[in-house]
Amino acid sequence: MLYYYIIYIIAGLLVGSFLNVVIFRLREAESLVFGSSKCQKCQTQIKAYDLVPVISFIILGGRCRACREKISIQYPIVEGLTALLFALSYYVYGLSWMSVLSAFTLSLLLVIVVFDLRELMVPEVLSWLLFGMALIGMILLNYDKIGSVILGGLVSGGVIALLVFISRGKWMGDGDIKIALAIGLFLSFPAAIFSVFASFISGAVVGTVLIAMKRKSGKDRLPFTPFLLFGLVASMLWGQRIIDWYLGRFIL
Ligand SMILES: [Zn+2]
Repeated sequence: MLYYYIIYIIAGLLVGSFLNVVIFRLREAESLVFGSSKCQKCQTQIKAYDLVPVISFIILGGRCRACREKISIQYPIVEGLTALLFALSYYVYGLSWMSVLSAFTLSLLLVIVVFDLRELMVPEVLSWLLFGMALIGMILLNYDKIGSVILGGLVSGGVIALLVFISRGKWMGDGDIKIALAIGLFLSFPAAIFSVFASFISGAVVGTVLIAMKRKSGKDRLPFTPFLLFGLVASMLWGQRIIDWYLGRFIL
């Protein structure tokens, strides 16, 4: 048990460290394969022992060893969160292919969230990749439940598509539809319904707080992907229990 948690967390830290490279190079349109890590200011090559996820950042006090330039806090945050998402996948799905699919789906969604928060946009290639991964992964792993997989995707993607249509793309965009579709496929029906609710409720709460704090006006578009990620995590943790409770209380 604990042994597997440690393996998942270490794998998560390494994947998170790779995701930082993906995020950086996609933004700068650099090749993913070539070139090693360099300090952005002094161009000094970063030594392997200074690339240990999270730990190096702490030891270096968040600064480049050569020129003392500040390193973005985004690096340890992405590494730490990826490790957490890997541990969550093991917690929910145990040692299974489903937990591997879960870990990679959640990590890719984290990359999407970072893009959405920083650039207020999501590269098409990432939302298509997420959709493709969820679709192929679920066909391979849950073919016997393919009906509820597809229904989950249609419910989740359909609600977002409807809102994009009603608001003419002002509240959410086409990227959000593909992402919601992917989440719905992954969670399947009926857990997908709970994740849609959790996304909207968390989005409404945070949006209201930001407007009250005058950090945003009512007209600003709030990136929605962080709430899609929250809805997915909330549904993995509590979705089934709440749906069972709801069905037991109001229908059966
Ligand atoms: Zn430097």
